[in-house]
Amino acid sequence: MELPVLSPFTPAVINEDPLDLMDEIDALKKEQDAAILAHFYVGGELQDIADFTGDSLKLARDATRITNSTIVFCGVHFMGESAKILSPEKTVLMPDLQAGCSLAESCPADRLAAYQAELRAQGHDFQTVAYINTSAAVKSLCDWIVTSGNAREIIDRVPADKEILFVPDQHLGRYLSSVTGRPMILWPGSCMVHEVFSIQDLMRAKRNHPGSLVMAHPECPANILEIADVIGGTEKMRKYVASIPERKTFLVATEANMIHPLMKIAPQHEYIPVPGIMTSTGETCACNQCPHMARNTLQKVRDCLKNRSPEIVWQPYFAQAQDVLKRSLLQ
Ligand code: SF4
Repeated sequence: MELPVLSPFTPAVINEDPLDLMDEIDALKKEQDAAILAHFYVGGELQDIADFTGDSLKLARDATRITNSTIVFCGVHFMGESAKILSPEKTVLMPDLQAGCSLAESCPADRLAAYQAELRAQGHDFQTVAYINTSAAVKSLCDWIVTSGNAREIIDRVPADKEILFVPDQHLGRYLSSVTGRPMILWPGSCMVHEVFSIQDLMRAKRNHPGSLVMAHPECPANILEIADVIGGTEKMRKYVASIPERKTFLVATEANMIHPLMKIAPQHEYIPVPGIMTSTGETCACNQCPHMARNTLQKVRDCLKNRSPEIVWQPYFAQAQDVLKRSLLQ
């Protein structure tokens, strides 16, 4: 057997013992006065060492309440930005600054500004409502920010005589338009994870698990939402499963790591990720895992604490994004 040739310039990947890493992280947290925030879509081992877990809304609020001077945000870039914008006095570190979001990237600030100008030139009188999965530069161009947890409440705050431009998730926008009765101009963005759920896989899973309930995130396309028994963001999913004492089988149409907090809060149920284990051949697939969230690892958490880097640095346009974020999430 031929052995691979290692270049002296290629660092070898060393798999460190997770328990040692956790001990190191604990010690560094104390030394650096740091708190770890982890989104429900990062790996379970990171959720377990976190001081706070939650969806984007809860974590943004947690970031403003904690007294630690440093935050390590295990999530994706726009989440770290939101934490910094709402808590500018704190140091916000991220395990990997490359952890982006396909949805946020589908709506660049310059294209949004051009589209808003075009709509105004056509005589549209509108307010722009952005899903939190957007860059800070995009947030600074918007009137409101919503998460899947507060969207209905915020849409009700848009004056009735204004049109709504909803960015960037067309599926969430369509769903919100149907539940609020407000027509919306939709930006054609979508999440690479929620977009791939296949209706055939879901129907097959329902047939194979009679009596099961389908829980779907509103970022899923309309054909998935049409057959879902429960539609909601991650916090709503947790509350729902915890409210049912008898054992049920849930088919979960969102990022696969969401199974971890569901198991923790309501271990009496069976959870099956969609479509992970239900392709026509019976093979497993990892297409329901977010590659950006997967960039967060124990090793990188340890390293960012040790090096105090990478850090989310305040940018001039954060000030305008701060106004809209505070108005939407904290008031
Ligand atoms: S799951 Fe989708 S919306 Fe969430 S961070 Fe990943 S790409 Fe973005």
